[in-house]
Amino acid sequence: MSFASEQQAEQSALRMSRLLPVLTAMFLLLLWSMVVETLYERAAFTRQQIATEQQRWLNQAAGSIDIRLDTLRSDILLHRDKKGGLARDTTSLYPLQGTRLWLIDADSQLQLHGEADTLSTTTADSVRQLLQQQPADGRLLLLDAAGQRSGGRLLVVMPWCEAGACQRALAGYVTLPDLLDPELLNDKPHVQLSDSSGNVLVSLGRAPGRLSSYLDHGMLQTANATATLSSVPLQLSVHLSPVRHSQPFILFALYLCASAILMSGLLVLILLRVGRRLTFILQRSEEVSQATHLLTLTNNSLRERLRKLIEEQRDQQTLIDTVQVGVLLIDAEQKIIITGNEAATRLLGYTRQALYRRSLESLFTSSEQYSQLLALLQEQQQLSEREVELNTRSDERLWSVLSMRPLLFRERNAYVLSFVDITERLLHAQRLEQEKQATERALSQLQSTQHELYQRATSDDLTGIANRRHFLSGAGKALELARLENQCLVVVVLDVDHFKSINDRYGHAAGDSVLQRLTQHIAAALPHAALFGRMGGEEFAIVLPDYNLNEAHALLDSIRVSLAALPLQQDGDIVHITFSAGLAERKRHGEQLFELLKIADHAMYQAKSEGRNRIHSAAPAQNG
Ligand code: GH3
Ligand code: MG
Ligand code: MG
Repeated sequence: MSFASEQQAEQSALRMSRLLPVLTAMFLLLLWSMVVETLYERAAFTRQQIATEQQRWLNQAAGSIDIRLDTLRSDILLHRDKKGGLARDTTSLYPLQGTRLWLIDADSQLQLHGEADTLSTTTADSVRQLLQQQPADGRLLLLDAAGQRSGGRLLVVMPWCEAGACQRALAGYVTLPDLLDPELLNDKPHVQLSDSSGNVLVSLGRAPGRLSSYLDHGMLQTANATATLSSVPLQLSVHLSPVRHSQPFILFALYLCASAILMSGLLVLILLRVGRRLTFILQRSEEVSQATHLLTLTNNSLRERLRKLIEEQRDQQTLIDTVQVGVLLIDAEQKIIITGNEAATRLLGYTRQALYRRSLESLFTSSEQYSQLLALLQEQQQLSEREVELNTRSDERLWSVLSMRPLLFRERNAYVLSFVDITERLLHAQRLEQEKQATERALSQLQSTQHELYQRATSDDLTGIANRRHFLSGAGKALELARLENQCLVVVVLDVDHFKSINDRYGHAAGDSVLQRLTQHIAAALPHAALFGRMGGEEFAIVLPDYNLNEAHALLDSIRVSLAALPLQQDGDIVHITFSAGLAERKRHGEQLFELLKIADHAMYQAKSEGRNRIHSAAPAQNG
């Protein structure tokens, strides 16, 4: 159901809920007023029936009384004679009680007829009083039987007047039932006989009293029907019991009321059901209204929150946009870009729209590197400070340091990817590295040049051993050390034998080669501490620290022998080289280097002169 129709239903329900009780009340009022009216009409009809019946009964009863009293009068008249006695004895003085008839005069009372009985004195007196009023002669009068009203007895009196004077009367008792036809009493009517003054002489039957039902007493109550008797100056009134009529009336009333109650009940039931339905609709409507209200409130609150969120988001976006770090939001499942900040768009060269839903992989120059990073991300849940090469829109390489962290974005798993452009830094580093390498290369070159220069300065170009200057410097220091520590030291001067002939036979280059191999052989045979230098041409010098003359002699001799035995190939010939050497020892021949060299040189020439290929130790000093 739509909201509009809900509202319509609510309004209808509200109208109905207000109208329905009023309508129901009106209907009930109408119904019950109809019931009451019908009841009253019926009651009036019934009363009319009762009144008609009473009137009919009354007419019949009055006729019955008049006939009986007229008959009685005729019968009593028959008893009179002009002499004041009884004309005849009769037994048909019906309806006189016991057919008793008394003659009452001023002095006495005499029973003329019927069973023996006594007329009460009171009754006789009341008859005498009546006579004093000079009643009409021969007319019947009915008197109160002096306190016997309840018994329903009446005194029937016939004045007997002669010459205008009423001296006598004939009297007897009569009861009201006796005056009536017996069938008239079947309905047990309430009958009264009263005089013109309204004094009740006699009554019969039970008067409608408190015990009568409301219907009898109220709704069906009818007035007494009254008729004046022609036989006596009395009025007969009757009130018939409405029982006979009230029963159908009660049944009718019950039926009517039951129907009305049933209808009312039905109506109330319908009202209750409809009321319940309306209450339900109204409750529902109330709930809907409350829900709508709540919804409106929630909506307002949500709108306010949304506004704040948008503001916050805008602030955050501004904040994110102001940083120089590229920031991308990545969908964790699809690995596509959701959004990016300004720095990211600037660094990558894409607009924000172009970045949207772009695959993360497309940003990487190497899909292999991308796969590795993804695997690492799966394993560690985040990446920090990874150097990667990214692809810009213009296919340029963008070297970046990249970090990725998980993030819940709009209830979706996402990653926030931040990257910094390190291309410049990298180029700078590369430049620095290149400069460093160039410097290192220059330094190395310098070092090698220096080494070369040093080598050149200190070593002999041809043989690679120390040149003369370097040897002399080293030898001087070694000698100084030996002197300080008072250790032995031997200086050797060595000259190749007949070297000129090598040059002459095989050429200068071959001579050079021989010189190189010779120096290699000697250097290899010398101890580590020994100093070996080329003094010039084919002449060499050796310093042997910690060697005495004999030890040095032995060493040099063994070298000489081994060299002499070394076959050197020269143009298909086998050449053997020998040398001659002279030795001088520090402690024996002096403390000065030049002095020792001179002595050793001399000893070497001594060896030459002795035939070459030999070692000659200098003789001890003359002064020593
Ligand atoms: P001795 O036994 O008397 O010493 O005879 P020798 O031939 O060795 O001596 P001499 O002094 O007569 O000759 C030395 C030769 O050494 C002369 C020179 O040409 C040669 N020589 C000097 N320096 C070099 C060099 O560097 N290379 C070559 N190939 N020959 C050189
Ligand atoms: Mg020489
Ligand atoms: Mg020589």
